[in-house]
Amino acid sequence: MPHYNELTDELAAKLKSIVGEDNYEYEDINEDYAHDEMPIYGSRMPDLVLFPATTEQVSEIMAVCNEHEIPVTVRGAGTGLAGGCTPLAGGVILCTMHMDQIIGYDMNNLNVRVQPGVRLCDLAADALEHDLMYPPDPGEKTGSIGGNVSTNAGGMRAVKYGTTRDYVEAVTAVLPNGHIMKIGRAVAKSSSGYSLLHLLVGSEGTLAVITELTMKLIPNPQENISFILPFTDINEAISAVPKIKLAGLNPQSLEFMERDIVDSSAAATGNNVFPTEVQGQEAGAYILVTLDGNDLDEIMQRAETLAEVADEAGAFDVLVVDEPSQKEAVWAARSAFLTVIEDEADLLDEMDVCVPVDKIAAMLKFVHETGVKYGVRIRSFGHAGDGNLHIYCAGNDIDEGEFKEKVAKVMHDAYAKAEEFGGQVSGEHGIGFGKKAYLRESLGNEAIALMAGIKNVFDPKGILNPGKVCSDL
Ligand SMILES: Cc1cc2nc3c(=O)[nH]c(=O)nc-3n(C[C@H](O)[C@H](O)[C@H](O)COP(=O)(O)OP(=O)(O)OC[C@H]3O[C@@H](n4cnc5c(N)ncnc54)[C@H](O)[C@@H]3O)c2cc1C
Repeated sequence: MPHYNELTDELAAKLKSIVGEDNYEYEDINEDYAHDEMPIYGSRMPDLVLFPATTEQVSEIMAVCNEHEIPVTVRGAGTGLAGGCTPLAGGVILCTMHMDQIIGYDMNNLNVRVQPGVRLCDLAADALEHDLMYPPDPGEKTGSIGGNVSTNAGGMRAVKYGTTRDYVEAVTAVLPNGHIMKIGRAVAKSSSGYSLLHLLVGSEGTLAVITELTMKLIPNPQENISFILPFTDINEAISAVPKIKLAGLNPQSLEFMERDIVDSSAAATGNNVFPTEVQGQEAGAYILVTLDGNDLDEIMQRAETLAEVADEAGAFDVLVVDEPSQKEAVWAARSAFLTVIEDEADLLDEMDVCVPVDKIAAMLKFVHETGVKYGVRIRSFGHAGDGNLHIYCAGNDIDEGEFKEKVAKVMHDAYAKAEEFGGQVSGEHGIGFGKKAYLRESLGNEAIALMAGIKNVFDPKGILNPGKVCSDL
C-alpha cells in the first residue's frame, strides 16, 4: 500500500506560491471539492485546492507532491458519475478549470489545440463558429474536455461518430514525478509502438495529468432532423433499433426512453414535447432518432426508409422534429432526464452498463424485475444505438445504510446479467471508486493485476488519484 504524508503548512505555502494568489483554496475550502456528482461513492475534504494555469505549474506541483508523498487528485468540472475526482486520501485537488484557453485551430488538418479546462459546451460552440463540429456530445455540457478525455465520455452522437477517444490526436501530459511528455501526434494514423495516448484516454486521472490536447474536428453537417417514434412498450421500441441500423440510415443519434421518465421530465420542466397518446394509442416507450447530412432532400429520402422500418417495427407514427424551437425543446427534455431523477430522489446510485444492442430490452426487463424483488425504485433511459443503458436506483424516505444494502443486491445481480450478455461494466462514465468491485468481478484478478502493474510504472509512489479504478488505499 502507498504511504502518504500530511500536508504541512510549510508545504502548502510552497504549493500555493507556484499558482499564486487567487488560484488556491486552503483554509476555507468549498465542500464541492469533496466529491463529484455521485456523493454516495464517498466524500472527503482535500487539504488544499490548486488551480494551475500552465503545464509548467502542473509539473512543479507534481514534482513537489511526488517528493513529499502527498496524494494528488485531478479534477475538471466535477460532473463525473463514478466518484473519479473524489480525493479519497485527502491531500491536493489539482483543478484544471483555470486552464481554459482554446489555443488555436489548424484548419488544414482539421484539429484544435485546447487546455484541459475548456468546457465541452464552449468548445462545441466555438468549433461551430469555424463551421466545424466537435462530435462527442455527452449529456452534461459543462464537463471539461480534460475530464471527457479522462473518462472517454460518450454521449448521444456516439452511434455515428464514436466516443471522445476517437477525437484525441495528441496530448501533453505531466507524469506523477513532474516530467512533461508530449504523447501522440496530430496525424490521422499511427502504428508506432504501444499506444500511450490510448492508455491515457479513459485512465481517469490515475496515470498522468493531461495539460493540453489536440482534438480532431469534422466539417459541420449543415442539416439535421430529429424524429420521435412512439411505441406500445420498450420491447417493441428496442426491436426497431437493429432494423434502423441495418437499413443503412446512419443515424447521428438513436436514444430510447420509457414513458415514466418522459412524464417526470414533462412535469418538472413543463415541456410536453413527447406525445403521450398517438392516433388513439397510449405510448409506453419512444425512440428518438436524428439524421444528419449536408443535403435536406437526401435526409428526407432516408426519413422515408425510416418511416417504413418504424411502421414494420410497430411504431404508431413518425413525428418529424424539424423546427429549431421544436428540436431545442425535444433535446432539452432528453437532456433533463438525469436532473429530473436527481431532483426526485433523496438517494441515488447508478449503472452505466453497455450490452449488445439486441440485449437492451432483456437487460431492462431483468433490472426492473430485480428492483421489484429487492424493493428498489428503478429509472432508466439510454443510448439505444450503442446498447449503453443508464439505470438509476432511487431512494426516498429510507435510511442510507439500508438503501446501500438493497442497491448492492440489485447491482450484483444486474452486473452478473450484463456479464452473461457479454456486456461491459461502464459504457462511458468510468470506474472511479464506485464501480471498482464490479470491474474486478467482470474482468478478473489477472486483468486488474495488469492494470495495477501499468499504474505502478507511471506512478510508483501511488500519489495520483489513489484508490481508483485498479488501486487500493
Ligand atoms: C447530468 C449529467 C449528464 C451526463 N451525461 C453524460 C453522458 O451522456 N455521457 C458521458 O460520458 N458522461 C456523462 N456524464 C458524466 C460526466 O459529465 C463525464 O464523466 C465528464 O467526462 C466528466 O468531466 P469533468 O470535467 O466533470 O470531470 P471530473 O468529474 O472532474 O473528473 C472525472 C475524472 O477525470 C479525471 N480528470 C479530469 N480532468 C483530468 C485531466 N486534465 N487529466 C487527468 N485526469 C483528469 C478525474 O481525476 C476523474 O477521475 C453526465 C453527468 C451529468 C451530471
